[in-house]
Amino acid sequence: MIVERGPRSVFCGLTGIVWLHRKIQDAFFLVIGSRTCAHLLQSAAGVMIFAEPRFATAIIGERDLAGLADANAELDRVVAQLLDRRPDIRLLFLVGSCPSEVIKLDLSRAATRLSGRFSPRVRVLNYSGSGIETTFTQGEDACLNALVPTLDQAPASAPPQLLVVGALADVVEDQFRALFAAMGLCEVQFLPARQAGQMPAVGPGTRFLLAQPYLGETARALESRGARRLAAPYPLGARGTRAWLRAAAESFGVDATLFERVTRAPFERACLALERHRERLAGKRIFFFPDSQLEIPIARFLAEELDAKLCEVGTPYLHRALMAAELALLPPETTLIEGQHVDRQLERCRAARPDLVVCGLGLANPLEAEGFATKWSIELVFTPIQGFEQAVDLAELFARPLVRRMRLVA
Ligand code: SF4
Repeated sequence: MIVERGPRSVFCGLTGIVWLHRKIQDAFFLVIGSRTCAHLLQSAAGVMIFAEPRFATAIIGERDLAGLADANAELDRVVAQLLDRRPDIRLLFLVGSCPSEVIKLDLSRAATRLSGRFSPRVRVLNYSGSGIETTFTQGEDACLNALVPTLDQAPASAPPQLLVVGALADVVEDQFRALFAAMGLCEVQFLPARQAGQMPAVGPGTRFLLAQPYLGETARALESRGARRLAAPYPLGARGTRAWLRAAAESFGVDATLFERVTRAPFERACLALERHRERLAGKRIFFFPDSQLEIPIARFLAEELDAKLCEVGTPYLHRALMAAELALLPPETTLIEGQHVDRQLERCRAARPDLVVCGLGLANPLEAEGFATKWSIELVFTPIQGFEQAVDLAELFARPLVRRMRLVA
């Protein structure tokens, strides 16, 4: 594995708001930032202005930046106005940005102050979505990490509980809940829950499965509350999903025959559906720029289940413990790069002439102009891709640009 440092090309953690605000249905995300932050969110989320979205930006103006205005007083006023106008809000996140960090606005103190004022109706938490030295999926990690200290303590006498950690589309969550229930695991909890008042309790009896690989801080916070992580690959592709489910089943003593009976039909259906994409992707050479932190599990899926060839797999950070089960399944000759020096990586990409490049939005258009087929890695977090039923959709995301490029060339 090679570690590389240099210029990077990634989105910041504010991007996570786009999927988190859909997930926690009575939460609101108030970014304390600049017009740039507001534009990023507005364009990434594509929400109509009249749709009453559950996020907004409190713009830090020049007077705030110059220290002429009391930013805390301004913030209190904006929050009071917001909560007055939106009585449906139960959980308010104050989300820090590069500008709020530059003026050293203490959002943690602001959240404590505002929580005292508006609780029990509204709980106010804070986290940072700043783009300084981060990548965009860290926003979800920071958000869930902020939630962990607020979770109720599960009683020491409570039976072991399964907790699935990481924002999943509701349809995926429902499928997993049904599969776990068929195995006799009926009390499965999810973090984040769909409502602020339904967040799970946590304690020494909690065993958790990560549904997303980029939740290192959240995992650490849960472990500090006594919870235990179940090591597994991530639920991507037919085999990844089966291995992920099996980790929970084995930990909870589910009978192997019952596990087989519950998973066989959806597993075989997913494998069959993947067949037509294997024809398109087998032997295709794929190059990953570091962006979403999903690169390693996705590369494993493409190599293991679709016979694709991996030119280079870049990842912004490599959390070895959280990635151990995935690394064990990657082809041994895979070139892994942690971090980024975007210029050098572009040179290697051009030299390798891959069939498909997986990268951020900023690199995709120039690479397309140079004749490469590309896949935006941000689509991987906006699209339901986990689980048996979605394995074919995940494969389709990679097959489609290849087909399009073939048509353009023909
Ligand atoms: S948080 Fe920083 S990187 Fe993100 S949009 Fe705002 S200014 Fe840009």
